[in-house]
Amino acid sequence: MTPIEKVLRPRLGERLVAPVDAGYATARLVWNAAVDARPAVIARCRDAAEVAVVVRAARAAGLPLSVRGGGHDWAGRAVRDGGVVVDLSDMRGVTVDAAAGEAVVRGGVTTGELLAAARPFGLAAATGVEQGVGMVGFTTGGGYGPLIGRCGLGADNLLSAEVVLADGSTVVAGPEGDDELWWALRGGGGNFGVVTSMRLKLHPVPIVLAGMLLFPFAEAATVLSGYSDIVAEAPDALTVMTGFFPGPHGPSVFVCPVWCGPDMAAGERHIARLRALGHPFVDQVGPMPVAAAVGMFAGNAVPGNHYLLRSAWVPDLRGAAGEALASGAATASSVSSVLFVSRLHGAASRVEPAATAFAHRRPHQVIEVIAVWAPGDPAPGRHRDWADATAATLAEVALPGAYPNQVGPHEDARARESFAGNLGRLLEAKRKYDPGDVFSAIPGLL
Ligand SMILES: Cc1cc2nc3c(=O)[nH]c(=O)nc-3n(C[C@H](O)[C@H](O)[C@H](O)COP(=O)(O)OP(=O)(O)OC[C@H]3O[C@@H](n4cnc5c(N)ncnc54)[C@H](O)[C@@H]3O)c2cc1C
Repeated sequence: MTPIEKVLRPRLGERLVAPVDAGYATARLVWNAAVDARPAVIARCRDAAEVAVVVRAARAAGLPLSVRGGGHDWAGRAVRDGGVVVDLSDMRGVTVDAAAGEAVVRGGVTTGELLAAARPFGLAAATGVEQGVGMVGFTTGGGYGPLIGRCGLGADNLLSAEVVLADGSTVVAGPEGDDELWWALRGGGGNFGVVTSMRLKLHPVPIVLAGMLLFPFAEAATVLSGYSDIVAEAPDALTVMTGFFPGPHGPSVFVCPVWCGPDMAAGERHIARLRALGHPFVDQVGPMPVAAAVGMFAGNAVPGNHYLLRSAWVPDLRGAAGEALASGAATASSVSSVLFVSRLHGAASRVEPAATAFAHRRPHQVIEVIAVWAPGDPAPGRHRDWADATAATLAEVALPGAYPNQVGPHEDARARESFAGNLGRLLEAKRKYDPGDVFSAIPGLL
């Protein structure tokens, strides 16, 4: 038994998973099967007290620490070679206070679980577009999603959080608690401690009008430029994602509107304008619960595939940005590689840049170049080459920085640029709450 096992085994029993244990092979897996880290131990914690024990033990042993929520970080920062994983997979559970319009979620709760718990009350949360994504990773890193125009970023909906800090102490970050930590957690990601629970705002959105419109690739230029015109003046209730699915018969452009306002007829009118951008050969737009809208991209994010992501912020998709996307789609490295574009606007853009750590509040588009390949692909390098080449073309029109939840592990300078005028305050918070850089989720903060 290794020294760290000797310390933690008596406390966690079978919930401590080491390389010799039967469950190790699956416990170390994350969503992206290209991640192949072999942690020293995986500690499946049950509550904040256990998290504190594990954090203290890892520090005493001088081992690197990582935190696993939903396991959906593309770069696999939830697991580290030779490290101690604070695994929150067993810390599930959502409590909805419908009258207050709030929910308390435990540290390992996923998007799908929160939406399912809120739905019977006609409520929804600001989430992203994938059911399996962990709510803490999503929220603390920023959090773009289909309700962003009306409800803001995920981070804008964080009311308070219980956090185990690097010294093993537990604090509550919020307007009535530790408000500097609360500021840092809203965009600064998992750089400050282990969030064992969060209180989140919920919104009365029982149903949305949403779905996929697919246009022929030949119409890409007109669809993207018309898309840019429509979203530039879109009301808060309308958020539209777009991008390219390569597919076995060549690429197609997708436009995926989500209308979350109460007036469905108004939503229909906006969506009719999007339909008229070209000749859609698939039109699946209709009323559905938020959870169904969130599940629309599930087929493109299957666990077990290998993924590599490059990300950029651009002001809009007119001209060179749209051309770079179309050329990326035309040369995609596999029939599963995707170009996905989401948008920050509305409520999220009206938050003062200095009000939370998430600094980039002007309306903009987030572009994800997502290379996808099957395990065992004989030439995986071509997928990286494609993503890098597409990202290099986009870099010519991109804004400084990128969505902090998506910058690569070695992009320190870029990660820092993302925080713009908030960087100094964020570094101060880092020095205050985690001076030893025990939690180093987003690179470059120390
Ligand atoms: C298929 C897919 C779809 C996505 N869609 C969206 C989207 O629509 N919008 C969007 O904004 N983002 C999206 N993302 C990005 C996602 O929000 C981030 O990768 C997020 O960090 C994932 O959180 P997780 O808990 O699932 O990941 P994990 O890999 O478990 O954790 C990633 C990091 O988050 C931190 N973390 C997680 N939980 C905790 C905790 N309880 N306490 C402290 N730190 C914690 C840790 O630093 C950890 O290393 C998507 C990712 C994928 C793979």
